[in-house]
Amino acid sequence: MEFIDLKAQQDRIRPQIDAAIKRVLDHGQYIMGPEVGQLEQMLAEFVGVKQVIGCSSGTDALLLPLMAYGVGPGDAIFTTPFTFFATCEMIALTGAIPVFVDIDPDTYNIDPIKLDAAILRVICEGKLNARGVIPVDLYGLPADYDAIMAIAEKYGLFVIEDAAQAFGATYKGRKAPGLAHVGATSFFPAKPLGCYGDGGAVFTDDDEMAEKIRSLLIHGKGLDKYDNVRIGLNARLDTIQAAILIEKLKIYEAEIEMRQQIANRYTQRLVAKGDASGFSIVSPFVPGGYDSVWAQYTIRSKRREALKCQLHQAGIPSMIYYMKPMHLLKANNYLGYMNGDFPISEDSAKTVLSLPLYPYMPKSVQDQIIDNITQC
Ligand SMILES: *Cc1c(COP(=O)(O)O)cnc(C)c1O
Repeated sequence: MEFIDLKAQQDRIRPQIDAAIKRVLDHGQYIMGPEVGQLEQMLAEFVGVKQVIGCSSGTDALLLPLMAYGVGPGDAIFTTPFTFFATCEMIALTGAIPVFVDIDPDTYNIDPIKLDAAILRVICEGKLNARGVIPVDLYGLPADYDAIMAIAEKYGLFVIEDAAQAFGATYKGRKAPGLAHVGATSFFPAKPLGCYGDGGAVFTDDDEMAEKIRSLLIHGKGLDKYDNVRIGLNARLDTIQAAILIEKLKIYEAEIEMRQQIANRYTQRLVAKGDASGFSIVSPFVPGGYDSVWAQYTIRSKRREALKCQLHQAGIPSMIYYMKPMHLLKANNYLGYMNGDFPISEDSAKTVLSLPLYPYMPKSVQDQIIDNITQC
């Protein structure tokens, strides 16, 4: 059994993928070919934002807007300690300081009440410039953007949505990554919408921001890439990856539905028998008005290690996202945080377990997983 099986999806659209790659080989515009612009337009329509800029990874999709906002030394950017390293890594790379804010125990996303308090603390201390917030839509579920945007507005901060795991998720009728001033997503193969290599995209309604990012993307280009007007990157999305993503995006809506059906089935069957299993399973929580794209189906159990071991012995893979919260990683030692600083994130790191979930997952495979957890 695989944790994420990408083969069934490939089998479904292999002829279209082959034809799309062949078209790129035939026209030969490997860099910034026509498929890049075509994909950007499709992504903008899908999410409902004005501007999309394809880029080389989800990591660069976070770095580009930080650079466009001119973030640097002396700035504080508020984010969650319960995420993948890239979120705080890109803040640090600009020279700014990541300021961590603990999460909501039900959604695993940044807690708006604690965010407000943390911003106020930084402003009162007066050592750093409070500049922006990067909420993460963890496991495919959007953070609480109504609350976050109101707080950001109160203090004059920008908000960059890290929707690397949540492309196409919905929040009160709107789609991720279109829920903040700028949104970032990743097309890493294992993400809900993945390509066959690295890729990412930036989303915004702000034309000036989009123009800056298009320049930063190609060595800070002005009129062309030999007319450099700012320090930038080489962060373009490959034409071949764009061509693959165009084909995958066509079936993505249907795949989100499959993901949701599988997740609902997990929740129904694990909750029903949860306590009898002895593992006291807590299923993921989705607030009213939200829809997750289920990048991960993550349960919680006080006996996580025993459960993981039992599954492993039955040949069922499971993953821990994330074993260590960001403030306890060696790379972040310099920030001076300690164990106990973010108790909800620390407790989550000790109890979460993600189960296999991907579109086209056969019912029999899912049953095998559920039976294994619930039978004791
Ligand atoms: C995967 C991920 C990233 C980085 O995306 P890449 O495409 O791998 O660079 C950033 N943030 C989060 C929350 C992620 O899950």
